[in-house]
Amino acid sequence: MATLPIRLFGDPVLRQETAPVADLDANLARLAEDMIETMYAAPGIGLAANQVGVSRRMFVYDVGEGPHVVVNPRIAESDGEWSYFEGCLSIPDLAWDVVRPRRVRLLGVDLEGRELDLEAEDLLARCFQHEIDHLDGVLLVSRLDTERRKEAMRVLRTRAFESSALVAPAARSGL
Ligand code: ZN
Repeated sequence: MATLPIRLFGDPVLRQETAPVADLDANLARLAEDMIETMYAAPGIGLAANQVGVSRRMFVYDVGEGPHVVVNPRIAESDGEWSYFEGCLSIPDLAWDVVRPRRVRLLGVDLEGRELDLEAEDLLARCFQHEIDHLDGVLLVSRLDTERRKEAMRVLRTRAFESSALVAPAARSGL
């Protein structure tokens, strides 16, 4: 198993809709293992494949009951409403109160191709919705109202500028 670098806001792979998984093979199982290790190391409770640069429809999660893998997930039903202070491993150190459905029903398959039909609420339902957003190429900032999104973009732009300013001198000295 290996820890993979987590792609950060600004990386185009996070804005692309992922492709359905066609083969449940050993490569996919290895990727899932690495994603689980990466999620624990972060630490996080969920991780989508495109967050480690692989544009395939799969995510891993663990909200406290052990690690799970969902391949080709989709939300079949949702209801209720719940506000939760939500963050994202691809947007470190920022979080917002975001309202989403409280309950969802998730369909997909596991690594062996067994059908999954999961009813979830609260944190688990939140995790499922967040990871499916990732797989659809949607980032958390897109779930904010206009004012908060503008503020978030301002912070993220400033951060990008500061990190490039930090990186540039080191890169030059390496030449
Ligand atoms: Zn995220």
